[in-house]
Amino acid sequence: MSHHYLGLAAKRKGAWKSLFAHGSRYDLNHLKIYLQERYQGEAMLTKNGRSALALALMGYFKKGDKVLVNGFTCYAVYEAVKAAGLEPVFVDISKNDLNFTVKTLEAAWTDGIKGVIVQNTLGNPVDIDAISKFAEQNGILIIEDLAHCAGIKYPNGKEVGTVGAATALSFGKDKSIDTVTGGAVIFRVPRKNQIKMPSVAPKKSDNARARVYPMLSAICRGMTYFHLSGVFMRMFMKFHWIERSADNKLDLKVKPSKFEAKQALKQLKELKLSESPLRNFYLVNHRDEVLEKLRKAGYYFDGFWYEKPVSPVRYYKKVNFPEESCPVATEVAEKIINIPTHYKKEELLDAKKIIKEYL
Ligand SMILES: *Cc1c(COP(=O)(O)O)cnc(C)c1O
Repeated sequence: MSHHYLGLAAKRKGAWKSLFAHGSRYDLNHLKIYLQERYQGEAMLTKNGRSALALALMGYFKKGDKVLVNGFTCYAVYEAVKAAGLEPVFVDISKNDLNFTVKTLEAAWTDGIKGVIVQNTLGNPVDIDAISKFAEQNGILIIEDLAHCAGIKYPNGKEVGTVGAATALSFGKDKSIDTVTGGAVIFRVPRKNQIKMPSVAPKKSDNARARVYPMLSAICRGMTYFHLSGVFMRMFMKFHWIERSADNKLDLKVKPSKFEAKQALKQLKELKLSESPLRNFYLVNHRDEVLEKLRKAGYYFDGFWYEKPVSPVRYYKKVNFPEESCPVATEVAEKIINIPTHYKKEELLDAKKIIKEYL
């Protein structure tokens, strides 16, 4: 069971730090200035990534416009598109990198499309030169969603977030910048529409949840060996000490807290410009069997990115996802498992052996 304690020990320092994290009013401003320089535009700090993405879309599009959306994504993206008054057009993906391609974008094309959200799924970059050419030819704008991919480079060497009309960042749980909640939008091209800057401080209870989350999640993971991770997780949720990421409400008025801004700035500065993915993934047959074996071996593989083409499953019906026109995304959602980020390489040797049998 040694690897659980390894994992816990590594996280414990961060968990204590987060409990007592503090920030000053300057931290919000420092973060904003840093983002403006790095991504070359006008930045606004937001409550979460979906609020940032909604503001990005509202800056350029009008009600009823359609936007192309990667057909393998988080409900947060759908929520942002709808909050901006737009209609999503889901696009099928490639199995190799879980991103749409020019070919699948062309297949999804219909009248009324005004933009495309580039997501770089799980930190795998799209072929941005081809996508930019497609966007230009069709007269549509690119919006970059950096929830999965902050800090990576496209194949052409440009950093993500420096290409589109606007860039949205999430600082949510398990994202490439993770301060539990928070986000930012950078308008790189002058906006067509007026946008109000988020200015309301987050609720005290939300701040408290953000502070204790790293500790509570470390406790849950530590319980894997005793098969109690799920029990603890459900208990913490019942008491509302942990909120499901997907339930973090979209709110265009709220800004992040000071201590989150301070952490986000630190993490942004430490990002390594590499092309390593956010989460390694495998497509396996008989996923339930694989997961059962992993549990027995003491691993806690908490959730998939993604279990449905638009996840989590409890919101999937709402989305009305076109499975017929996105067969690859539909199949990938049934087969994917992700390697959680809280394990070190050497802790994963046994897990990889189990997975290899089912590829
Ligand atoms: C998580 C996520 C977001 C935004 O997340 P928030 O929880 O609102 O911070 C945006 N896009 C993608 C692809 C995501 O996975």
